[in-house]
Amino acid sequence: MSASLFTPDHRLAPYWWDRVPRPALFATGLSARVDVLVVGSGYTGLQAALQTARAGRDTLVLDAEDAGWGCSTRNGGQISTSVKPGYAALARRHGAGRAREIVQEGQRSLSWFGEFVAAEAIECDFRVVGRFHAAHNAVQFGRLVQAAEQQPPGLAVEVRVVTRAEQRMELGSDAYWGGVVYPRHASVDPARYHQELLARVQAAGARVVGRCPVTRVERDGAGFRVTSALGTVRARDVVIATNGYTGALTPWLRRRVIPIGSYIIATEPLQPELMRRLMPKNRIVSDTRKVVFYYRASPDQRRILFGGRVSVSETDPRVSGPLLHADLVKVFPELAHTRISHSWCGFVAYTFDELMHIGRHDGMHYATGYCGSGVGMGSYLGMRLGQQVLGLPEGRTAFDGLGFRTRPFYFGRPWFLAPSIRYFRWRDRQAF
Ligand SMILES: Cc1cc2nc3c(=O)[nH]c(=O)nc-3n(C[C@H](O)[C@H](O)[C@H](O)COP(=O)(O)OP(=O)(O)OC[C@H]3O[C@@H](n4cnc5c(N)ncnc54)[C@H](O)[C@@H]3O)c2cc1C
Repeated sequence: MSASLFTPDHRLAPYWWDRVPRPALFATGLSARVDVLVVGSGYTGLQAALQTARAGRDTLVLDAEDAGWGCSTRNGGQISTSVKPGYAALARRHGAGRAREIVQEGQRSLSWFGEFVAAEAIECDFRVVGRFHAAHNAVQFGRLVQAAEQQPPGLAVEVRVVTRAEQRMELGSDAYWGGVVYPRHASVDPARYHQELLARVQAAGARVVGRCPVTRVERDGAGFRVTSALGTVRARDVVIATNGYTGALTPWLRRRVIPIGSYIIATEPLQPELMRRLMPKNRIVSDTRKVVFYYRASPDQRRILFGGRVSVSETDPRVSGPLLHADLVKVFPELAHTRISHSWCGFVAYTFDELMHIGRHDGMHYATGYCGSGVGMGSYLGMRLGQQVLGLPEGRTAFDGLGFRTRPFYFGRPWFLAPSIRYFRWRDRQAF
């Protein structure tokens, strides 16, 4: 590793935390009884808490770390329709009707997010900048064009094909074979959004406490007895919102989510002229690789935030940073001598069917498994989950009752990940 790749003042923490440090929400004790206890203070937990607190339910949110410490203040801040499987694959698995509903739910999550930040006047650098989805080879470009031209009737979204010859108008790189632009996809400062959401939740009367791991949840009559580092709380309803950090507390869920590391670096500030050349339209960017690169400009348009899956279980950003830098230079060779100011990682939750899941198990409510796309969808399903806790009909989603499968011999440690990622990397290097 070359030490000079890092700026002298580099931080091994999310770039977003410079502007929005983790809040100090400590407590010395908890109430003996609440209506709703939420485990996890990311977007899922806070959106659920916002619903229940505003409906007058005494709501307590506990996080094992500082509030928002998980993915919700570490992510790339890219917002899309979030559902990975396409309509045809979903229709084969779930039938045409359910497939249509799932695709529409993804589209709704994107439009709902914009409406939510506008209605709540949330200041979080939310911008509908559009996504450039780049093809990493010619075959993939053909697939993108075909998918854009043959969208299922009634489910079409706005999309524009960009040829390789036009590519420089979207991105200052020749590393791709063209791509497509989704003009409605958006960007946000994820930590500012989290901070503002937290403030709304507290203003609604909910209590949010950090550094208080929940260690046990047991049935207690019609409700639950919850054991935490700060004592025992009785709760009528429990919401599990632990996503990629799901652990021994909920073994059933742990067998169903696959924690996968995702990694980001921020560059040192770049010259405005260079930024205009590399990111001429300030789009968010992703590519067709299975082991995807995703990147964007910082909200002040001075840096590039570049993310990917450079490792399987590495949690040392000193190691992942230089690997990501090498990938960054593949896309933008002129950044070969640009240094890294921040390097960090987090754990997203994948599922075996690549879909998000919401429901109830052993009486506890949960929403999880956003497969790396949880800014919009985690917020949206958190909101729906809160409505489900309240028993409201509008809490219904297209994901209800889908069936949440695990696999034999999987207990929460993804032993198959290293060979899978090696295989996908090999595939990404082939011309198909
Ligand atoms: C590097 C990276 C980049 C990403 N980029 C994007 C992107 O550009 N766009 C996008 O849509 N998504 C992205 N994601 C995914 C997105 O951030 C997540 O899907 C989303 O934030 C999940 O929110 P959540 O509230 O469900 O979980 P989290 O925000 O992860 O919160 C879970 C919380 O549960 C807490 N917890 C766990 N166990 C316990 C316990 N026993 N007791 C108390 N608390 C507990 C944890 O401490 C944690 O704070 C990215 C993720 C990462 C890591």
